[in-house]
Amino acid sequence: MFSYRHAFHAGNHADVLKHLALIATLRHLMLKPPALTLVDTHAGAGLYRLDSEFTDKGGEAEHGVVRLFSVLRPAQGPMAASTPLIDDYLDLVAGFNPGGSLRVYPGSPFVMQHLMRHEARDRLKLFELHPTDGKTLSSNIAQLEAGRAVVIKRDDGFEGLKPLLPPPADAQGSRRGLVLIDPSYELKSDYGKVSACIQDALKRFATGTYFIWYPVIPRTEAHDLPRKLRALAQRAGRPWLHATLAIGHPPLAPNERPGLTASGVFVVNPPHTLADGLRAALPVLVDVLGRGRGQGHAVEASG
Ligand code: SAM
Repeated sequence: MFSYRHAFHAGNHADVLKHLALIATLRHLMLKPPALTLVDTHAGAGLYRLDSEFTDKGGEAEHGVVRLFSVLRPAQGPMAASTPLIDDYLDLVAGFNPGGSLRVYPGSPFVMQHLMRHEARDRLKLFELHPTDGKTLSSNIAQLEAGRAVVIKRDDGFEGLKPLLPPPADAQGSRRGLVLIDPSYELKSDYGKVSACIQDALKRFATGTYFIWYPVIPRTEAHDLPRKLRALAQRAGRPWLHATLAIGHPPLAPNERPGLTASGVFVVNPPHTLADGLRAALPVLVDVLGRGRGQGHAVEASG
């Protein structure tokens, strides 16, 4: 079960979609002062080197964040127009690369930790089952000296989420939280676990924001997942948003496989501004990252 290592994929088009939408969601939630509980059920290693043995082999960031920087942030000035969500994402990634060249990529734990507000007493809970990535995550997070604001558990994130919901109330009785659910879907049982997790989570804490990433691949379970999530949100009477980004692929040699070309995010209780932000950003991402056959984007949202 442990063959997946996110380091091979860090900064690819799927990370671009996920992290860009995650940052926009968090920014909106953080406009209100009460504390937020942030949970990352599948955290990964937290921080990735873009020049490591992993990324050299896969080179997936070349068709993701690296290409975005080279088109939208080259030294001689941008070659295409950006949008506020893309700019915010690129600024955050650039903040981890003070020397200018892109060497380090922040995974979701570092994106969330970077944005969380110490004065508001936001809290971050991270789950990572892989023994090596779990250790790397712990040592990466330790360098931040974040104290008790960030807690790491080497446990199953689906199960570990349950006792965290609903999150504790602040002095005014307000309970606020965002849960990122980002499995590797190495096992096809992950699809069913995601739906079951959302069904359970909505019973425990209906007003939480649930942010799910999934791969768009020719597999029944992957195709059904957004439909199932939409049905769960509708049954609970909660708003939802679904966005997909497909970068397509160039012509392939016989028996050549294109790798992952598309992915989606589904958000229950999304910020009302997210759909418009993504509708502006996704066409630019397709223009910059698109590789040919099958490229495209879509955003649909309730009400
Ligand atoms: N969220 C990360 C990010 O955006 O930077 C990427 C996470 S990666 C797609 C999925 C991670 O989940 C892998 O590191 C894998 O080892 C871990 N994992 C797999 N099953 C898990 C489980 N049941 N609970 C917690 N972590 C799990």
